[in-house]
Amino acid sequence: MYHVPPELVREIFNFLFDTPLNDSEELGVPNRQKWSSIHGLTLVSKDFRALTLEAWFRTLFVTSPADITLLQDVFPEIGRAWTRELHCVQLHSRETSVWNLEGFQCLSRIRLDWMSPSMMPHYGSDDPADRLPFTHISSTVTELDIRGLPWPSPLVFHNINKILPQLRILKLRQSRTWCGLCHTCSVVKFRSPGPEMLVYEGGLGLPMHYSRVFSALEHLHTVSITVPDLGSGTTTLSQKHNPYLWSGECDRCMEIMYEDEAFRVRWVARKQGQADDTKEGGKTVYVFPPALKRVEWRFWKAESGEDSDFIENGDELNGSGDDV
Ligand SMILES: [Zn+2]
Repeated sequence: MYHVPPELVREIFNFLFDTPLNDSEELGVPNRQKWSSIHGLTLVSKDFRALTLEAWFRTLFVTSPADITLLQDVFPEIGRAWTRELHCVQLHSRETSVWNLEGFQCLSRIRLDWMSPSMMPHYGSDDPADRLPFTHISSTVTELDIRGLPWPSPLVFHNINKILPQLRILKLRQSRTWCGLCHTCSVVKFRSPGPEMLVYEGGLGLPMHYSRVFSALEHLHTVSITVPDLGSGTTTLSQKHNPYLWSGECDRCMEIMYEDEAFRVRWVARKQGQADDTKEGGKTVYVFPPALKRVEWRFWKAESGEDSDFIENGDELNGSGDDV
């Protein structure tokens, strides 16, 4: 009979349970083994049952804050020792779930899938439901992955440095991005074929107002933003040809406002942190988050007809202008 050290068995279990099932980007579903396929392990022995539960709850998948309370009551080890990643889902509802993560002492990563078509961040609000909807996050959390935000205004992130001061990696996957020229969330349209990826080093590359909000994050190292390219735009862009340092501007703004070369030169300078002292100049300039090394933009080609999924919605921002 072979005797395998429990530490090795634990590693095998963790590897088995942490391996994603597939490359699916589907929101609101756990991308891992089904409980039905592994629950037999819990019947092998008391030790196997303990290791199976520990490995299963390394990633906690929940669709309501009440689930967290319930599970912590049954398995207090979840917060104390087991859970490293929280995968939570904002269900299709106009009421925002606020996730109280008190007691999660070992958490390192949070993923939030936003299934609701509405989100209304309001200027000046202190309500967590209007911001990143988390409270009492452990300082051990260094990675945040948010997918599906319908209206990813910089206002959403206004509390990020308070709730996640240790954040190092931020990943966003959404259908729109922020245009720093018209101060709204817009779909992305490049002249086909657009880029698959743009990479900025040295702290550049965020939408202007994102840079200002994220500048309070002392440890932020990498930001990855993934958006669909709907094509049929007027701007030609690639990793090798990116003279105006595209960072979220909408096709319409670029088509109209870049015609004015003087404005365009000043805008690109502002996007590199240079103040514009001219009479016509805007007062907002890019602020470099102190530890930011890499900004990645990734694009997927939206299918023909998918356009209707990205119609601008009616959520309103109040006072989200130049001072954000
Ligand atoms: Zn715009």
